[in-house]
Amino acid sequence: MADAARRGTEYLESLETRHVFPREADIARLRDALHAPMPSGPTTGAEVLRFLDHYGSPATVASAGGRYFGFVTGGALPATVASHMLATAWDQNCITFTSSPAAALFDEAAFRWLKEIFKLPAETMGAFVQGATAANFTALAAARHEVLARAGWNVEEQGLRGSPGVTVIVGEEVHGSINRVLPLLGFGRAQLVRVPVDDQGRLRADQLPAIEGPTIVCIQAGNVNSGAFDPAPAIIDRAQAGGAWVHVDGAFGLWAAASAKRRHLVEAFERADSWATDAHKWLNVPYDCGIAFVRHPDAQRAAMSISGDYLMMGGRDAIELTLDNSRRARGVDVWAALQSLGRQGLAELVDRNCDQAKWLAGELKAAGIGILNDVVLNQVVVSLGDDVGTKRMIAALQQSGQAWCGGTRWHGQEAMRISISAWATTDKDMRTTLRSILAAAER
Ligand SMILES: *Cc1c(COP(=O)(O)O)cnc(C)c1O
Repeated sequence: MADAARRGTEYLESLETRHVFPREADIARLRDALHAPMPSGPTTGAEVLRFLDHYGSPATVASAGGRYFGFVTGGALPATVASHMLATAWDQNCITFTSSPAAALFDEAAFRWLKEIFKLPAETMGAFVQGATAANFTALAAARHEVLARAGWNVEEQGLRGSPGVTVIVGEEVHGSINRVLPLLGFGRAQLVRVPVDDQGRLRADQLPAIEGPTIVCIQAGNVNSGAFDPAPAIIDRAQAGGAWVHVDGAFGLWAAASAKRRHLVEAFERADSWATDAHKWLNVPYDCGIAFVRHPDAQRAAMSISGDYLMMGGRDAIELTLDNSRRARGVDVWAALQSLGRQGLAELVDRNCDQAKWLAGELKAAGIGILNDVVLNQVVVSLGDDVGTKRMIAALQQSGQAWCGGTRWHGQEAMRISISAWATTDKDMRTTLRSILAAAER
């Protein structure tokens, strides 16, 4: 344990100077080392750890450091790396209050604070899951239950065959995770009503169809490319007038609520019926940790409950709220992150990353490089104007080892997406990144 802590600390300190993406040779070395038969006898824990560090560490992606901007990826705050280690030693199974009173209490405390941050209604129930994908699934299962129950149909008992039709409305730039979970709930991708979006990828409220009958409307707080927010006030007014359930995918964007300067971006989102967000992105806790919030706990229980048998002590019973039975104590890391940051620290984290995104976009623009989005949050979409050149720039940047950004296709062109969501990213990292992008664009 102590050796793991020491090696972990040294690893984190090494991130500053190493290649962000591992070198080919280091990946090959690990591959070769792992190409071995299972040992017939035991290996000491110290030897196992030495192997992991010697072969594994150099082959990792330095996404815990300050210059990894791929996908939307947070690092892990030091307090949460530590809390994760301790909670792993606890090894609590967090099915019910009875299976781990401590874990249930940390969950409750974390949710009390999270609901304050996001200004969610008091009746809202929170549940920890693997990620925003699972959070979208959990919330949409509750939505499916509720809109059908209002039409006199119990979908968990009666299934979908013969049920009243459910209209599911999404924006044309809905996140892939929603496209993935809706079919699992019996809503085929070809059956979705896809509403046109504007130049920032925001769902156009004036293009919403008439809403009647069982309906679920999925909106976004934070488009995965542009970071833009759907116009929640207008959409929610329309949707709720028609009796629809509104679900918010706010995997990273919902965290704008933590900043006084950016809270206006999430105006009215708290009037929705359910929300999905991630803690492993902008809150910077270790993987994996997503959060589902549902304002109708009875609908969530109806959709997810396994049976009454498990309930023994009447505290928080996580098993009633998500697909997981056995699970780890995710609430511990979230509590540790919020406790270590405090309100100010969290606001500062969000604001710093947003300011860094704005600064970088401004510098790139000044150097004649195209920025495709309005930089309202932490996302910057970059293009050189021709697809081949843009792809070459992305490859050159990735090979430089100085920073890592991924590619995306947005509004008909290839683009590089820069997502700044790590606590570890300093202004010095941003200057290094700017130089590296400019060098990559020149090549
Ligand atoms: C990352 C992301 C997801 C999926 O989150 P996971 O934690 O990877 O499951 C969903 N929606 C949006 C907008 C995202 O950015």
